[in-house]
Amino acid sequence: MIEVFKFGGASVKDAGGVKNLANIIKLNLDKKLLIVVSAMGKTTNNLEALTKAYINQTKDIHPIFSSIKAYHEAILNDLFDDKNHPAFDEIANTFVEIDWIIEEEPNEDTDYIYDQIVSIGELVSTKIVSAYLNHSGIFNTWLDARSFIHTDNTYREGQVDWDRTCSAIQGQLPQILSDTIGITQGFIGGTSENYTTTLGREGSDYSAAIFASCLHADAVTIWKDVPGVLNADPKLFPKTTKYDELSYAEALEMTYYGATVIHPKTIKPLRNANIPLKVKPFLAPTEPGTIVKDEAQIPAEIPALIVKENQVLASFSTKDFSFITENHLSEIFRIFAKKNIKINTMQISAISFSACFDFEEAKFNRLQEAFQLEYSIKYNTDLQLITVRHFKKELIDEIIHDKVVLLEQFSRNTAQLVLKSH
Ligand code: ASP
Ligand code: MG
Repeated sequence: MIEVFKFGGASVKDAGGVKNLANIIKLNLDKKLLIVVSAMGKTTNNLEALTKAYINQTKDIHPIFSSIKAYHEAILNDLFDDKNHPAFDEIANTFVEIDWIIEEEPNEDTDYIYDQIVSIGELVSTKIVSAYLNHSGIFNTWLDARSFIHTDNTYREGQVDWDRTCSAIQGQLPQILSDTIGITQGFIGGTSENYTTTLGREGSDYSAAIFASCLHADAVTIWKDVPGVLNADPKLFPKTTKYDELSYAEALEMTYYGATVIHPKTIKPLRNANIPLKVKPFLAPTEPGTIVKDEAQIPAEIPALIVKENQVLASFSTKDFSFITENHLSEIFRIFAKKNIKINTMQISAISFSACFDFEEAKFNRLQEAFQLEYSIKYNTDLQLITVRHFKKELIDEIIHDKVVLLEQFSRNTAQLVLKSH
């Protein structure tokens, strides 16, 4: 019985979180466990800020770096009474890798630099967790995810080489996990030249799914600060309901439309290997949470509400008044694909094509350049896209009552609304 547990940044944001993680492991010592851990708290954001400061050579680079180190140092201090514990040196030495990078001029590709710096967050968090677990009598082996998760060299968005990854995992991990608990990093991988890559923000869930799939694990549990998968973000809606179970398909739809509780890439490998995914509250580890599996009740009576902010709705109209044909469409989609812009929802009329997507200024400018010769472009920014799965009319009315609806689309199960505040 092998299980993979994934702990996100919020679950290990302080010493209390690390101790809580240890307690959760203690409750599960009957299983063979691989533990995947993210960077602590907001470390990834802070390392991103550090990377930016380094690339732009701004003065805040040293204060940002010092505060990242101080944050981890404080956690170590809270965890270890013995200030000579080797973990202190080990963490300091890991951070030295950043010193080596920032001593030099930023001449390398910026995405490459990003991955070399940002990945340190996962390396230090797992070293701290591993040292603390050993110190508490939970013997474990720290594993470098970069020698298991093999990717190409698309920095910041490493594409997994499944064959190499699974053979590395299958060749070494079952043996290790039969003797000890494995502790490894989410989010990071390695290229064939041994450079570090990252899999995209919030990618640790995906890492857990990759390990589980190659190990043919019995389950993956994502430990979260919510009771399970809720039908809406509790930060945005006061009343939410937890799903007891969801099908893979339903969970996939929810993540596709922007539910952030599970990383979108997580479901596919688990579904294909038929591995159930549990989402459980790290503060109440014996509660059942939500289970995502093959045959689950579709919760038609609990509508899922997914909100995406910072949307742009752009419409592209043919300048010569020609109808939008399949030829236009294939050209339009080719441009979107080339500019790496994912369309969240769209609509077509006689002479125009409208698409709603995440607003990123530089990308959007490049998109407009590509279209401006043949199309006139109109757009609105600062919009909200709300997707409702299993919608009811009253709920839609409630959502739109104080908003302007710029685009709406209804299918049997899904409603999508592009909204502007008054
Ligand atoms: N630490 C990374 C991030 O914050 C990966 C993750 O948490 O899943 O994006
Ligand atoms: Mg995170």
